[in-house]
Amino acid sequence: MNCIFCKIASKEIQSRIVYENERAMAFYDINPQSPIHILIIPKKHYENLFEVVDKEDSDAILDCIKRVVETLGIKHYRLVSNAGKGAGQEVFHLHLHFLAGKVFSAKTV
Ligand code: AMP
Ligand code: ZN
Repeated sequence: MNCIFCKIASKEIQSRIVYENERAMAFYDINPQSPIHILIIPKKHYENLFEVVDKEDSDAILDCIKRVVETLGIKHYRLVSNAGKGAGQEVFHLHLHFLAGKVFSAKTV
């Protein structure tokens, strides 16, 4: 499968990794939409949250979120997951956008 995030997970493609555990990793988005923009992915390929994610993988994702918050001393953040083309998903490997480093003016939800 020609999936860029699988290649990032296997280190075939380089990324700026913030934290990783056995099943998930956090790395900086190449095209940041806020001063801190990190992507959190499971290393296993899932298209998005429409798929049933193994508990070990969802736990690993939650661990990444916590460790990013601790490591970077984050005070507040926003998490976004685009699931499906209609939501703007462009890379079809499950990922959470972790956005921080500013006061968010507009609330979308
Ligand atoms: P989405 O539109 O929700 O599918 O988000 C895909 C995200 O992946 C975008 O924010 C891109 O900037 C980001 N992205 C694509 N390729 C890379 C890469 N090689 N390294 C880091 N981020 C990437
Ligand atoms: Zn993938």
